[in-house]
Amino acid sequence: MYRTITTIVALLFVFTGLTTHAEPIGYFTPDDVTYDPAIPTPEAFLRHELGAQPVRHDRMVDYLRTVAGLSDRISIETIGYSHEGRPIEFLVVTNPENHSRLEDIRTRHVALSNPDSGIQPNDSMPVVTWLNYGVHGAESSGMDAVIPVVYHLAAAKGEAIENTLSQSVILITAIFNPDGHSRRINHVLKFMSDVPVTDPAHAAHDLWIDARTNHYWFDLNRQWLLQTQPEAQAWLSKWHQWKPNVTVDYHEMGSNSTYYFHPGVPNRKNPLIPDRSRQLLKDMAHFHAKTLDRDGTLYFTEEGFDNYYIGKGSTYPHINGSVGILFEAGAARGGAIETPNGVRHYAANIRKHFRTSLSSIEGARSLAPRLLDNQYSFFQEAREQGQKDDIRGWVFTSPDKARLAHFLDLLERHQVQAYALARDVTVDDHSFQAGDAYLVPVAQAQYHMIKGLFDRVRSFKEAIFYDVSGWTLPLAYDLDYAALNKKAWRTDLLGDEAQAQMAWPRAEAPDRASYGYVFSWEDYYAPKALNRLLAAGVHVRGAMEPFSVLTSKGERHFPRGALFVPLAGQDDVDADSLYEHVTSVTRIEGIPVHAVTSGLTPTEGADLGGRSSFQSLSTPHVVLVFDDGLSKYEAGEAWHLLDKRMQIPVTLRAKSDLMGLDWSRYSHMVLPGGRAALNSRSTKRLEQWIKEEGGTLIALRQGATWAQQALLNSGGNAKGKDKAQAPKTSQRTDYADYDVEEAKDVIGGAIFASDLDITHPLGFGYQDRLLPSHRNTTLVLATPQNPYATIARYLETSPILSGYASDKRLAEIAGSPMMVAERLGRGTVILFADDPNFRATFLGTNKLFLNSLFWSKAFRAPRSNGDEEENALAH
Ligand SMILES: [Zn+2]
Repeated sequence: MYRTITTIVALLFVFTGLTTHAEPIGYFTPDDVTYDPAIPTPEAFLRHELGAQPVRHDRMVDYLRTVAGLSDRISIETIGYSHEGRPIEFLVVTNPENHSRLEDIRTRHVALSNPDSGIQPNDSMPVVTWLNYGVHGAESSGMDAVIPVVYHLAAAKGEAIENTLSQSVILITAIFNPDGHSRRINHVLKFMSDVPVTDPAHAAHDLWIDARTNHYWFDLNRQWLLQTQPEAQAWLSKWHQWKPNVTVDYHEMGSNSTYYFHPGVPNRKNPLIPDRSRQLLKDMAHFHAKTLDRDGTLYFTEEGFDNYYIGKGSTYPHINGSVGILFEAGAARGGAIETPNGVRHYAANIRKHFRTSLSSIEGARSLAPRLLDNQYSFFQEAREQGQKDDIRGWVFTSPDKARLAHFLDLLERHQVQAYALARDVTVDDHSFQAGDAYLVPVAQAQYHMIKGLFDRVRSFKEAIFYDVSGWTLPLAYDLDYAALNKKAWRTDLLGDEAQAQMAWPRAEAPDRASYGYVFSWEDYYAPKALNRLLAAGVHVRGAMEPFSVLTSKGERHFPRGALFVPLAGQDDVDADSLYEHVTSVTRIEGIPVHAVTSGLTPTEGADLGGRSSFQSLSTPHVVLVFDDGLSKYEAGEAWHLLDKRMQIPVTLRAKSDLMGLDWSRYSHMVLPGGRAALNSRSTKRLEQWIKEEGGTLIALRQGATWAQQALLNSGGNAKGKDKAQAPKTSQRTDYADYDVEEAKDVIGGAIFASDLDITHPLGFGYQDRLLPSHRNTTLVLATPQNPYATIARYLETSPILSGYASDKRLAEIAGSPMMVAERLGRGTVILFADDPNFRATFLGTNKLFLNSLFWSKAFRAPRSNGDEEENALAH
């Protein structure tokens, strides 16, 4: 019955003639294999041949589920959902006999990664190969390739496939990034034409960056390490459930390139990756070369791509006892496109990825004993290296329990064991208290991950980086942390094993207050709580000075930024609903709320009704400018922080469409970096909105240098401060050194240290003046004339904490502003030289960005500015 239907469907599409680039399944599959007709071919099912158009996600899922349902070689499950609610499918392919004892196979396999399990590799263990399809939504051939692969694995007949399936467990994710992929396909289908248009200028070939990312415009191929997105969390958890021996990642690159596979550039291997891993990559490469040679395909290895940043799909596995392989096809953009190497066809790309999927499976099967030994040895060595390391463990804490819990959650996702600190310990005058800090011993299976997460890296073989050069995560989370060396280390420091779930802040409901309620601004989620109160019409006053207050539990001290909710003056909420609102802060954010019994401050600060010691705070109405050359990543990070984490609504508005906006509706405008300059009309309107209507501009990176010049009439330099006057170099250099020389002064992504003015309202919520931030540009903001305007300034000496920057760049950046804020007329301009929201991972600097929303009117211009109205508070 089924076959009759598919035959009719197959006949139908023949006459619809979608484009000329589609190919029948025989074009993709090897010549010497016969296929089981009970499994529907992709073209019969999809009603078009592969390569005719990128396959819609829902249709792909239908096909995979249908084939899995028909084949006793395949099981399928949904391991997670994208932000937009699309399923991420996970397939396990092996022979039926292995399927019947799959859990046993998995358990024994994973035990190889446990140095204490006593399990060693043996010939009866199947090799585990993981094929990742579609982390970058725009790179469609890396997704469609899953279709012939699954067809082949389900339907191929004969001894070869039987041997492969009996000796392998093949894991497939299809697909990682369904939201980006769907965005891409809608775009390609929108411009699809009867006659193929190969002109690269055609609109159909566009939308590259847009569709590369997930819903909030995050590059998911940086997320293996960072784990802030649901897609990444789904696949990493599955990855560790299986600990595959080979992990293959499918991509597309620029159309003018040919076809790439690992190994990458030899000098750019992360030092944590064993040489054995690289040798295995080289040996696997012979299998790919063999299959591509047969078709005369042009390809390259050891060029352009690397294994340095450990958060990529093809590098993370190397730090986890596996071998990661990157495949990149020169893009055909879902159709056909002219390139210097001839017209590139989509179907041909699918075929290349399909063929190297098979060569990866076959390579892994052939090298199985060495791959299994690699897994086993990697973790044995990890334990030994951990026992010999000068650093025996890392201790860390934070006054902000939410950031601490987020960090513990991250460690758990990477299978790093952390423990409660059982005894007080002091390192370099910094004391960590038992019960308030955690400890990670390095002598554990995840030794390499711990080094990757905690070590600050400051020496490099080469200055070229495909991605960031420094990502030390306790710095990104701005934790108090220290290394414990041999002398400081004692096993009795280890308390109970930590569980992230148990570490989330909890607080009890406050007592009913007779006067008001107060809570601290230090918690990561305090801005979320504040915004909810303000949006509900609750009147909240923010403390400009430290103060003490009488509460139902006695006298309490609070730092600057603490929030006071008085019972008086709440015109829109009665006492009962006010109590409900403040109780929600303990229930949802876990922030302790204290019931205040008197307006007098007994030992510190002015009284709670003070006119300049407290400021009324108001709900921010935020418009986030995006598109038209602005950094999609930065816009997405700000959007994600406000929407997803802080539940603050954000209006997204294209840069080219600002004049159509009713500006009076908004209190804050966020301008990301990238091509940030607004046109003259928008700039004029922006200036008027700030000066006359009291708007606040928050500008990031190139947005900040532009705004400093355009609005504050002082110039930074987006290219580094001495570039314009740089004398013509007289030094002659061989052209062979071009790449290395040109990369020398680039800052690909490193962590810098600033001194933060924690007495300024925009620095509230911090106890420590030293603040790490992420920088991936060489731009430098000019130092303002206003002595109070530099909220954060890079350290004068050694401003870099982790990652690469040349001495020349360090000299330029040292002592320059990281964050500037100036009052301008009735409004405010706030500038960030760095990206405070980088990849949703710099939880430490997020607070600075959020301060810019809530405290942007809480400070004054210097008296010398002579603006009587703005200085009204001083009188
Ligand atoms: Zn890619």
